[in-house]
Parts: sequence; structure tokens; C-alpha cells
Amino acid sequence: MKKQLLALLLVSATATTSFAALKFDSDVPKNIQTQMVEDLAFMAQITGSGQTPFHKELFTEVSGKAYQQFFDTRIFSVGVDACGGGAAVACVQPFFDPNKMWLTENYIKFSHPQVARSMVVYHEARHSESKNGNWMHANCPRPFLDANGKDMVSIWTGAKLEGQPACDSTYKGSYGSSTIMLKNISKYCSNCSDKVKMDADIYAMDQLNRISKPAVKQSMLADFAN
Ligand SMILES: [Zn+2]
Repeated sequence: MKKQLLALLLVSATATTSFAALKFDSDVPKNIQTQMVEDLAFMAQITGSGQTPFHKELFTEVSGKAYQQFFDTRIFSVGVDACGGGAAVACVQPFFDPNKMWLTENYIKFSHPQVARSMVVYHEARHSESKNGNWMHANCPRPFLDANGKDMVSIWTGAKLEGQPACDSTYKGSYGSSTIMLKNISKYCSNCSDKVKMDADIYAMDQLNRISKPAVKQSMLADFAN
């Protein structure tokens, strides 16, 4: 049953998308290629019933077509790299080629939901925008505490975030934009399962904490109320 569903997804992907244009380096392991193609196909089949103003500004609409266009105009090829090592999942190295995304082995090893993995892909795609300084991260505050006074940690790795270059000071950056994308999927996707929408909300609300300027975070919460 599961196999059948995947096959269907892939068929609809080739029928409605042009991800075939995405070039994988020959040394990218096949299972990583397959996972990424499936994740992009998942994004490309989304239909939506509305959106928030920030989402409209950044992605135009909650729809597979809009998400595919966002990706296709930013990432042209995919390679495999350690991305600095450790727990990195993916990266863009603008000085080398801003339109190339690098995936690490962690892309298929880490056990986060598909919609969360898609968030990583769209976060990296945003870094391809050289005309916007590649939306470099901001340093997280020090100390960096949650509402309960506990250290903020990465939902991906559990690493402490204080003082790390793992935050954004604008809603338009890589963390901000992908948070807005996920929150809108949780609110407005009309063909997503409840599980997908719940996952999207959990990861969006976690990544919202990466917005280090309180006023910007407040403006995003106000946007999400739409
Ligand atoms: Zn980043």
C-alpha cells in the first residue's frame, strides 16, 4: 500500500513538475536523490485555500506550483558534501555556486517528518539569493532562553543555540521565510493529512523562536493570525 502511494506521488511529480531539470552530481547516493525528489514532489502537489500576507509576499500562494517555482528559480544542481560536518543536513555555499544545494548523509538519516525535511530544503534555497546577501544568519542572543527560562536548543540536533549564528533578525531570511511557509501549510493546505498539518505547525512554531528580534517575531505572530 505504501509503495503504491509513493509510486503515485512520483507519477504525479513527473506529470506536473519540471524537477527533471534538477541536476544531481553523479556522486550523490541514489537513496539521497530519491528522497529529495520525493520531498520536492510532496511540495509540488500541495493545494491551498488561502494564505497570510507575509506568505503572499514571499511565496505568492500556498500551492505546489508556487513552491516548485520558488525552488526551480533558485536551485539548479545538487551535490553531496559534509557542509562543515557535525549535524548539518544541507547547505548552500554561495562563494562556490549560489544555485547549488549540498546534501549530507544526515538528509536521509535523521528521522524528522517529510514536511520538516522540506523546510530544510526551502531554508537552503533562500540562501541562494546573492542579491540579498544570501540572507546570512544572525547570531542568537546570549543567553537565549525559552518561555520557561530553559536554554533554547535546536529541534534538529538538540544543540544549545545561544550565541550561535542560527537565528534571523528578519522574517524574510532563511529561518523566517521557511517558518512562514510551514505555518501556512499547517493553516491552509487543503489536501494535507492532519498529521502533516500538525507536523508543519510544530516545526513552524519551533523555528519561530529563531527570530531573534521580538518585534519581528510579534509581527509574524500577527501575520499567522490571518
Ligand atoms: Zn541557513
